[in-house]
Amino acid sequence: MNGTLSLYVMKFGGSSVGDIERMQRVAGRIADKQDEGHRCVVVVSAMGDTTDDLIDQAKQLNALPPAREMDMLMTTGEQISVALLSIALHGIGRNAVSYTGWQAGFRTDETHGRARINEIVPRRVLEALEREQIVIVAGFQGMTLDGEITTLGRGGSDTTAVALAGAIKADVCEIYTDVDGIYSTDPRIVKKARKLKEISYDEMLELANLGAAVLHPRAVEYAKRHQVKLVVRSSFNHNEGTVVKEEARMEQGVVVSGIAYDKNVARISILGVQDVPGVLAQVFGKLAEESVDVDIIVQSGVQNEQADFSFTVALSDLARAKEVIEQLHASLPYREVTSEDNLVKVSIVGAGMVSHPGVAAQMFDVISKEGVSIKMVSTSEIKVSCVIESGNLQTIIQALHTAYNLDSAEQAFVGGPKDRR
Ligand code: ASP
Ligand code: MG
Repeated sequence: MNGTLSLYVMKFGGSSVGDIERMQRVAGRIADKQDEGHRCVVVVSAMGDTTDDLIDQAKQLNALPPAREMDMLMTTGEQISVALLSIALHGIGRNAVSYTGWQAGFRTDETHGRARINEIVPRRVLEALEREQIVIVAGFQGMTLDGEITTLGRGGSDTTAVALAGAIKADVCEIYTDVDGIYSTDPRIVKKARKLKEISYDEMLELANLGAAVLHPRAVEYAKRHQVKLVVRSSFNHNEGTVVKEEARMEQGVVVSGIAYDKNVARISILGVQDVPGVLAQVFGKLAEESVDVDIIVQSGVQNEQADFSFTVALSDLARAKEVIEQLHASLPYREVTSEDNLVKVSIVGAGMVSHPGVAAQMFDVISKEGVSIKMVSTSEIKVSCVIESGNLQTIIQALHTAYNLDSAEQAFVGGPKDRR
């Protein structure tokens, strides 16, 4: 026996249940947890690339498939997983029961494709636990009050797990994936990247939003709001993972906890804009209307009543964003629009920054010593992001990793590519 008995939510991502053999291994892992005396609620994603494959099939039939039907389609992936996992558990003599999202009580709003959870009524889950069953719940899905099936957005199974853990007051929510935990930076880029023992919700939220794909940002938000203790660990080994919680223990001299990067970034500059009130509102209002998210915005000096400004968007939105700006030309006189797409946004994140002035200055210094120019900057209380040319990514991350004392030979990277979202 291993400590006190606890109620666990264990979430397994698509690659962890990617084939029958892996499914079998996951079943064994759950059985082990039960043998330690714990109660288990398990959330699973669709096997491997199932969700992507289903989307591909739909698109072959219809370039613009209705969102309602897509939800009907995509939710089948997780249903297959829960049924097979329960069948596997029965096969090794365990009493398990599988539930769809709606059976488990996930009530959502009506936004097909990215629904929000309004309420969880986990009556059946709790009753099954009373019967000492292992409960397997389909991730990523719910139902509206009208009985329409919805999905929570790509990668939404993390959110299912965390939300369920909150609703049934689980002691821990373990996210099993194909990496060992949260790393100080991407181990594929920096050899000396190391696994963090702990990280705070706020830091994790920044990292998740900045492109660290291990955890879904919405799940982290949920965990913070409901104070759900998260553990991110590998489903392929028994190494200790990373604990995500309110106050992470700060290591001596560590001001920056992690370095993230995002290659999905492009910069648009609008040059020679008439400097009249309301210009920014017009541009960014229109972009918002077209669902183009804008990240960093910089306006430079005004000359001859003309201003230049630049902003970043996701690279995948670049074409659409430029179209929107071109459409505005009639009502918004400007000289020229330019764009750059060979960029990357590098960010340092650390709760320790709040009490350490000069962290940003140090970052600029490190980057400039490498002879790289910074195109744009944005900051929050616990993060600094710089946009640079993507060719310099590796050098810069390596230099920052060393400069902020993150190097250590402690732990090598184990595991394959990240879970696909
Ligand atoms: N299967 C869904 C997806 O691929 C949900 C998940 O994996 O979390 O997005
Ligand atoms: Mg998936």
